Amino acid sequence: MNSLVDELARVVGADHVLTAAGEQAPYVTDWLGKYRGSALAVVRPGSSEEVRRVLAACHEAGAIVVPQGGHTSLSGGATPDGSGNAVVLSLTRMNRIREIDPIGNTITVDAGCVLARVQEAAREAGRFFPLSLGAEGSCTIGGNLAANAGGVAVLRYGTMRELTLGLEVVLPDGRMWDGLKALRKDNSGYSLRDLFIGSEGTLGVITGAVLKLFPEPRARAAAFVAVPGLDAALGLLAVVRERCGDRLTAFEFMTDVCLDLVTRHVADARLPFGSLPAAAVLVELSDTDGEAALAERLETALVDAVEAGLAEDAVVAQDGTQARAFWRLREGISEALVRAGKAAKHDVSVPVAEMAAFVREAGAAVEESAPGARPVVFGHLGDGNLHYNVLRPEVASEEAFAAAAPALTRRVHDVVARHQGSISAEHGIGQLRVGEMSGCKSPLELELMSALKTVLDPQWRFNPGKLLPPDMPARRPV
Ligand code: FAD
Repeated sequence: MNSLVDELARVVGADHVLTAAGEQAPYVTDWLGKYRGSALAVVRPGSSEEVRRVLAACHEAGAIVVPQGGHTSLSGGATPDGSGNAVVLSLTRMNRIREIDPIGNTITVDAGCVLARVQEAAREAGRFFPLSLGAEGSCTIGGNLAANAGGVAVLRYGTMRELTLGLEVVLPDGRMWDGLKALRKDNSGYSLRDLFIGSEGTLGVITGAVLKLFPEPRARAAAFVAVPGLDAALGLLAVVRERCGDRLTAFEFMTDVCLDLVTRHVADARLPFGSLPAAAVLVELSDTDGEAALAERLETALVDAVEAGLAEDAVVAQDGTQARAFWRLREGISEALVRAGKAAKHDVSVPVAEMAAFVREAGAAVEESAPGARPVVFGHLGDGNLHYNVLRPEVASEEAFAAAAPALTRRVHDVVARHQGSISAEHGIGQLRVGEMSGCKSPLELELMSALKTVLDPQWRFNPGKLLPPDMPARRPV
C-alpha cells in the first residue's frame, strides 16, 4: 500500500496526502466524538480530475475509500473504521462556485463547497438557496447530497433531492459520469441523479452539482405559540396551511420537557410566556415582499386557532431580534440535551396523521423499557419528522442506561414500523443505525439495494460498514 500512497501524492501533491496521526485526527473522529477510526491516508484532491485519478489508483490497488465532506454527519457516516486500511477522500479543497445562472435560477458548485458559502453566493446574485441547518458553516454540498439533508425549510422547499437538478459523480472504478444538466424536465430514463442522492458515500463520489435557486424571501413573520399538546399542534398546522398556503416555511414543535431543558441549560434561551406550556410551536412564514401583510396573515390564523382551542397563547415577533430569540429556543434544545446527560436518540418520521399515536405508543414502550426515562420530543412537525430523544432516568446509572438503550431503541423503532415510518428522517443510517436496516427494510428492498451496490462497486470497497448491513444478500466481501 506504500506505492498507493506514493501514487496519491503524485496526483494531488504530497502536502495533500496526510499520513501522520496528528494530521489525520479531525478526519478520523466524528463530529460528536462518538466514533474514532484510523486511515491509511487522508487525500485532499483539488479538482474533479484529481478525484478521478485518485479513485482509479485506489481501484487498481483494491483500497477501501471513505468519501468525506465537512465530517458533520450525526450517524458516523464519514468516519473510517479502526482498521487503518481506508483512504479518506476529503473534498474540502474543492470549493469553487462554478456558475450562477440568474435566468435559469441555478447555481453550479464543486461538491466541497461549504453550504453557508453557497447560500452567500446565491444572496450576492439576488437569489436564495433554501437549505439551512445547524451545521451550515461546516457541512458541504456533497455531504448534504449524500445525506439528502433536509433542514428547517423542507416544508416549503423540500430536501436536497428536490433542490438538485444535476450531478457530476466519479464512480468507484475512476470513470466520471457527467450528469451536470440544469434541466427541470428530463424523462429520458432512470434518474441516476436520485440514485446517488442519499447514497451516503457508498456508490461513488459526488464532485459537482447543479442546484435550484429561488427568489429571495425579503419578508418574514415568526410566532411562538403555546399549544395544549401534539394533537392541537397538528390542528394548528392545518389552520396555518389553509390560511397561509406555501408561505408556511417552518413549523417546529417542542414539548414542555424541551422548553424546560432549554431554558435551564442555555443561558440566552427565554420563553416569551409567563408560564411553561404543555408544548409549543415555532411558526415561520416567508414571502418575496409585504412584511406587514405577512404578519397580519399570521396573526389572523393564530386568532382563529386560539378561538378553536388549538392554541393557548401566541407571540408574533416584532422584529428580527425577537424572531432569532424564538429560533434560539428551538435550536438550543440539542445543546441543552448534551448538558442534561445521556440520551438515547432517534430521528424518525411517520405520516403526519399518525404522529400523535406514535408519540403515545412510543412513550408507553419507553416507560416499559426504562421506567422513569423522559422522552424529549421535538422536530419538524410539518414534515412528520420527530427527534425522539430519551433522557436517562435519574434513578439509573449511566452504565445501566447504556445497557438498556439498544432494547429501548428497538422498541421505539418497532412503533415507527407499525406506523409505516422511517428510522432515519434526515440524519442518515451511517454506522449508527446500520444494525437496524435488516429490521426496517423488506427483503426485496435489501436485495435491490444490494444489487445496485454490486453493479457500481463490485468489491464493496466504498464506505464499508455504513448504510448497508453486512449480512445483505448478494454481498461480496472486501
Ligand atoms: P460528511 O459528514 O462528511 O459525510 C456525510 C455522508 O456523506 C457520509 O456518508 C460521507 O461518506 C458522504 N459524503 C460526503 N461527501 C460526499 C461526496 N462528495 N460524495 C459522496 N459521498 C459523500 N440534517 C438535516 O437533514 N436537517 C437538520 O436540521 C440537520 N441539523 C444538523 C445540525 C447539526 C448541528 C449537525 C452537526 C448536523 C445536522 N444535520 C441535519 C445533519 C447534516 O445534514 C449532515 O451532517 C450534513 O449534511 C453532512 O454534510 P458533510 O459535508 O459534513 O458530510
